[in-house]
Amino acid sequence: MTFDKLESPREYCGLCGVSGAANPLEAIYLGLHSQQHRGQEAAGIMVGVEGDCRLHRDNGLVDDVFHSLPADWRQAAITHAIGHVRYSTAGGSSVVNAQPLMADLAGELVGVAHNGTLCNSVWLRRKLQEEGAIFQTSSDTELLLHLLARGLRKHHNGDLWNALEAALRELRGAYSLLLMTRSHWAAIRDPLGFRPLCLGRFPDGGWMSASETIAFDVAGARFEREVEPGEIVVVDGRGDLESRRFAPVKRRAHCIFEHVYFARPGSYVFGDSVYEARKEMGRQLARECPADVDLIVPVPDSGVFAAFGFAEQSGIPLDMGLTRNHYVGRTFIDPGSHVSRGKMATRKLQPIGEALRGKRICLIEDSIVRGSTSRARIRAIRETGAREVHMRVSCPPHRHGCYFGIDFPQRESLLANQAEFSEMADILHLDSLGYLSRDGMLGCVKAYRPQDYCCACFDGDYPVRPEGL
Ligand code: SF4
Repeated sequence: MTFDKLESPREYCGLCGVSGAANPLEAIYLGLHSQQHRGQEAAGIMVGVEGDCRLHRDNGLVDDVFHSLPADWRQAAITHAIGHVRYSTAGGSSVVNAQPLMADLAGELVGVAHNGTLCNSVWLRRKLQEEGAIFQTSSDTELLLHLLARGLRKHHNGDLWNALEAALRELRGAYSLLLMTRSHWAAIRDPLGFRPLCLGRFPDGGWMSASETIAFDVAGARFEREVEPGEIVVVDGRGDLESRRFAPVKRRAHCIFEHVYFARPGSYVFGDSVYEARKEMGRQLARECPADVDLIVPVPDSGVFAAFGFAEQSGIPLDMGLTRNHYVGRTFIDPGSHVSRGKMATRKLQPIGEALRGKRICLIEDSIVRGSTSRARIRAIRETGAREVHMRVSCPPHRHGCYFGIDFPQRESLLANQAEFSEMADILHLDSLGYLSRDGMLGCVKAYRPQDYCCACFDGDYPVRPEGL
């Protein structure tokens, strides 16, 4: 078990698809690399070359996986490609679960890359197994391949796109998908649009798809539009694009936590700039929960932009009183080891005494999950000589699990479920604690109505009923 897994929500997956780019391999590398924050366990790429498909995937970061690409890929005439960065929210972290997954479906090579978590995967897996399906992985994604194979065989007479539409109608939950064959690739979003997925265009006419628009900026494409919930966008080898619908949009459930924590500030997600939304959350937090302090201190990295907003709104100076060690990866630390909580907390973020000593400070944090890292960090800050330590959090308290692709610890271990709000500041050794309200948070995004966002980890109102709840 990793330290990070114990203490904070985990990223999940990032997607990138390309065709018609001057250098598809470079474009997909840049697109995946810019989305590395969405998954660091494994990466993979599937390419179309001269009417055939090739796949390369492995555990590790994008750079590691691309360094081990077969040498002849660099000279290959690649027409289209899909890629994936993975953190396992469902399925283990073994390399067999790295994506894209590729299968030969009665002569049609099909690859799939998935971001999200299905809510009916246990039921679907059992049903398919009863029908004779044999699974090679423990990931949700393989379910789609089995549903496709069954549909092609039984109902759709080899028509992949009709079989795909029928298969998608059997899935419940969160899925943004890229699918690829020898001649086409497709970008797909679930009918509620939980996870982001966008389309971009290269200046010479090629297409790109990515979870976050920052991939377009880095790879030289221009944002065109979001893939709509319930839509399949099919791109062929010539760059022609066809939009198909497999479900109507009755309501939306965009994950608000993308704006709070996950997405990169340089991205647009669900039509809003993450930078603007995050900064506005800081401003709104300052309006709702002001703090009488000398200094605003962000908790890097995701608290930084909310802290800028809080400082701007309150007129209180901001300083980087915590510095991040960028060379701390997701190192395995034995839970039974004797490394103290304090050392663990300061391993990643070190307080700077010169910035904090003698001051009343307000930390700006993006979320509190279990609270144990925050508590140890606050103790370390007090040891530098800070006079008062307050904290403001740029989202509401986390009280519920996520079943749509974000990995929170068990509900019972979330701090907001373990203590009354009035006790939490004491537990964390804080002089005061304040959270942004749900309505305040939703007021910081503009492109869609408040009811178009999922807030289930805050309010328990699940847009799709998870299995077993
Ligand atoms: S439950 Fe929370 S993290 Fe999960 S999709 Fe909804 S808002 Fe996002």
